Amino acid sequence: MNDATSPASLHDLLQGRLGSVMRIPVRDSRLTCRVCLGPLSRPGLAMCWQCRRHALRAGRDGWRLADRVIALTHSVDGEQSNVDMHRYKALASDEERFTTDAWQRLSLLVAAFGLRHAVCLDAASRLPVSRVTTVPSLRGRPGPHPLAALTAHLPRAWRPAPLVPALHVPEQVRRLLDPRHFTVTDPGGVAGRHVCVFEDTWVRGGHAQSAAAALHAAGAAEVTILAIARRLAPSYAQNRAFIEDRRQDYALDHCPVSPGSCPAPD
Ligand SMILES: [Zn+2]
Ligand SMILES: [Zn+2]
Repeated sequence: MNDATSPASLHDLLQGRLGSVMRIPVRDSRLTCRVCLGPLSRPGLAMCWQCRRHALRAGRDGWRLADRVIALTHSVDGEQSNVDMHRYKALASDEERFTTDAWQRLSLLVAAFGLRHAVCLDAASRLPVSRVTTVPSLRGRPGPHPLAALTAHLPRAWRPAPLVPALHVPEQVRRLLDPRHFTVTDPGGVAGRHVCVFEDTWVRGGHAQSAAAALHAAGAAEVTILAIARRLAPSYAQNRAFIEDRRQDYALDHCPVSPGSCPAPD
């Protein structure tokens, strides 16, 4: 799509509701991790410390990580963007949840991606996305996770590919990379396909990368992690300077798949 096919009202709506809260997740090869978009502790490194650890572990154990990671916004500790990522899932009932500004902002953010940039993901991939899954809690959260309701804003061609969590994973290893934390319930449904792992917040990435490795082990040909937010803690390493220097308000025209401009469809 291009500007001519995007109604001005959609731009205006998103600018008004998201512009001052959400941030463009800056991707800069000198400053940000090539995997997760986190700020690098020093320029010139390819990956942040966590992603380097995941790559080393995956290489050692023969696991395959996600083919790419996309984030729709940077969320910053202490700012509304990060409050939203907690608040949207804090309430017990959908009825309460759907009336909150946090839920509505995240719905808009995901819907805007689904409408405008999901095609960019297909254009940038070897295969179009045809399955989507959310990462289940390893803490045994009861009932459906609120994130599952946000998948309704993603393309209908992305059919569900459920993962089930392993039982009794000790708390101290839940955030570590290990595909054995998740089981693909229908390996035949993901074999040879491009699967999207839809995650709410990327903090260290162990959870989502474990799910990606489980999907690859089950036969998925391509896996993309789509995180609503890449969280940044201003107190960590050089993050504060990055956050202050590189702030860019959300804009529909910014392509989260291919910064600069949307890739041309095949
Ligand atoms: Zn990283
Ligand atoms: Zn795009």
